[in-house]
Amino acid sequence: MNPSTDDRRGALDRSASRFAAPIGTRDLQSPETDRRRAFNARFAEMMGRAAYHEIETPMFEELGLFLRVGESTDVVTKEMYDFEDKGGRRMALRPELTAGVCRAFVQHKPTASPWKVWYSGPQFRYEAPQKGRYRQFSQVGVEAIGVEDPDLDVEVIALAADFFHVLGLRQVTLHLNTLGEVTERQAYTDALGEYLNTRRAELSERSIATLERNPLRVLDSKRPEDHAVLADAPTIQEFLSDRSRRYFDAVCAGLESLGIGFEISPRLVRGLDYYCHTTFEFAADSLSAAQNAVGGGGRYDGLVESLGGPPTPGVGFALGIDRTLLACDAEDVFVALPTPGDVFVVDLAGGQAAALCTELRRAGIAVDRTYSAEFGPEGSSPRSMKAQMRAANRAGSRLALIVGPDEVTAGVATLRDLSGGEQTTVSRADLIASVRAALGHTA
Ligand code: AMP
Repeated sequence: MNPSTDDRRGALDRSASRFAAPIGTRDLQSPETDRRRAFNARFAEMMGRAAYHEIETPMFEELGLFLRVGESTDVVTKEMYDFEDKGGRRMALRPELTAGVCRAFVQHKPTASPWKVWYSGPQFRYEAPQKGRYRQFSQVGVEAIGVEDPDLDVEVIALAADFFHVLGLRQVTLHLNTLGEVTERQAYTDALGEYLNTRRAELSERSIATLERNPLRVLDSKRPEDHAVLADAPTIQEFLSDRSRRYFDAVCAGLESLGIGFEISPRLVRGLDYYCHTTFEFAADSLSAAQNAVGGGGRYDGLVESLGGPPTPGVGFALGIDRTLLACDAEDVFVALPTPGDVFVVDLAGGQAAALCTELRRAGIAVDRTYSAEFGPEGSSPRSMKAQMRAANRAGSRLALIVGPDEVTAGVATLRDLSGGEQTTVSRADLIASVRAALGHTA
């Protein structure tokens, strides 16, 4: 090894003990990771049943893509992890997935209409971290692109509502609003801006800054100073055309017919610039206001076109996995449970466990074991029976498969039910069938 490599390695080793996960990120471990896998599996299954197919887009895209879709939003202007790659390209870690999915739609020109996709994965936003607000967080979501039909809005909202329900959540409120056509939304934004400017002096400093960029976003403010001003603000309703009103009525009627409860929230506007018509958000009433948004979405009829595609309507939602699981914790549902193994091999003869584990695992049985504490002059030495049984109980395995020297000689093994304590001697030749029978598995 040349000295410079050695030096570098030394420097790395010395600082290694100080490394921690970056601020706003977390290491997720079992059983939380098991819970997330189950969460994703359930989501995939439900969306699959509604004919949505999985899409996986890159975790980073050209910066320009996000600038195009969210010029006046904090998510894009203030919170983006953007960087120049080694080829001098301006890139960004994705802060959300709708832009990437629409970019993929424009790029691949799928023929299905609507093109219905679902996704799951991490997003990145440089936010001030707190409980339920991270710099890397995960979302699941759907996009349905190509059709403007209130029934599709209803389908998308119903899928999200049903998913929360399937997780066991009962305290989630659906807030619904419409932003009308892009022109109506613009007329409303202008009127709102004018109104807010007349009462500028009463607004909080943060809201004054937001007002400069996007008056609509001021409506999101939960700061008490802004309350009175916002209470008197004009609402979108006055700016809606007949068609937009009818569209919204159809969405409301569709949800009612499915028994999905909602509240109309005239001040609900969504973060990104491309929303029109239906917008919605799900609030977990079990969580405090700062983190109770568990998901949201809406219609974005201008987005595909703004990315260079043909005029194409679209609708979708994204649910925050981290926050939804916090809501599950608060309601004590969809609990994180470690997955116990089926069998724990207790090897008292030494040298038996590896083969037994492999044989059982190849047969589809979940198996664990202990390992030697030390590799001595005589090789590995088995742990005591007591230590191995303690490990078996800690692992929550259903059966212990015990082999000692006598069993090895006789070509048998002992199966012990770890909850009841009954024991049977089984032949090594029929091991798989005996274990399956003891576990109640059908062959
Ligand atoms: P948005 O794309 O902002 O509409 O976010 C959709 C959902 O993602 C929200 O309702 C949250 O549940 C979740 N979410 C957004 N930002 C964060 C974050 N910084 N940390 C955790 N979850 C987030």
